[in-house]
Amino acid sequence: MELAAVLRGKDIAVSIVEAATRPLGRAVPARFAEALCTRHVDEGVRFFLGQGVAAINHDAVVLADDTEVPADMVVSAIGVMPEIELAKAAGITTGNGILTDAFLRTSVSNIFAAGDCAAVLQPGGRHIRFESWRNARSQAEIAAQNMVGAENAFATSPWFWSDQYDLGLQVTGSPEAGHQTVVRPLADGEMEFYLDSGRLVAAAGLGIGNGIAKDIKLAEILIGTGVSPNPLELADPSVNLKTLLRNARVA
Ligand SMILES: Cc1cc2nc3c(=O)[nH]c(=O)nc-3n(C[C@H](O)[C@H](O)[C@H](O)COP(=O)(O)OP(=O)(O)OC[C@H]3O[C@@H](n4cnc5c(N)ncnc54)[C@H](O)[C@@H]3O)c2cc1C
Repeated sequence: MELAAVLRGKDIAVSIVEAATRPLGRAVPARFAEALCTRHVDEGVRFFLGQGVAAINHDAVVLADDTEVPADMVVSAIGVMPEIELAKAAGITTGNGILTDAFLRTSVSNIFAAGDCAAVLQPGGRHIRFESWRNARSQAEIAAQNMVGAENAFATSPWFWSDQYDLGLQVTGSPEAGHQTVVRPLADGEMEFYLDSGRLVAAAGLGIGNGIAKDIKLAEILIGTGVSPNPLELADPSVNLKTLLRNARVA
């Protein structure tokens, strides 16, 4: 989607083929995925959704329903698979990555995993691989501390951003379908907060340029304090997030 935005800026025709029924479905909340998709359509990007690729010819991509999408250049952006053969050969438990506990320790107690290859145990029992440089760095630090005797759990809130056209998206925490959502309108965009049994666990925002960065940073600190903010205050742009943070700290 980022590449599509850059190419449209150079007036190059772009078609996006996506196997799922909507783009950005894995990590971007539906509200913002839809807004970004609409922007791409407005910019002239053609979407082919819910379609697998049957073949790539020299001048077209052929979809599963035989539709031919003309293409001079094809970019495949379908994610990565972790390289876990070495861990497997060492008898370490693997799944979608090298499975670790919350302390980044693998099933072999003196071997740790960090970064993209590490599938880290989450509250609730799932293992998740966090694929971003900030996680790779903080997991490396925590694994190193635990190797020399600390007992630090990896509890850093995941965070990522994406810039498309003049829009900036940021997501902190892991929004999930079961969360209560609260929308906060902003002058140049929108934020959405995610509450789990009242507790703030994630936030996302889409705005012009870097406009939502400060609010996402404050939301991240709020998430770290473990607060259960009043949803009406979260939704109200006249209530400064700094005030909510101050109230949380006093409480
Ligand atoms: C195209 C692309 C764009 C990205 N954009 C962003 C972004 O905008 N923001 C962001 O936060 N993240 C981004 N990422 C993700 C980010 O690059 C990764 O999260 C980060 O590099 C993970 O660091 P790592 O050290 O875990 O793994 P890597 O950087 O993959 O390093 C692993 C290293 O281990 C080596 N290796 C593997 N097996 C063995 C072995 N058996 N023995 C010795 N060496 C081995 C590999 O060769 C590799 O050099 C992007 C990734 C890609 C591919």
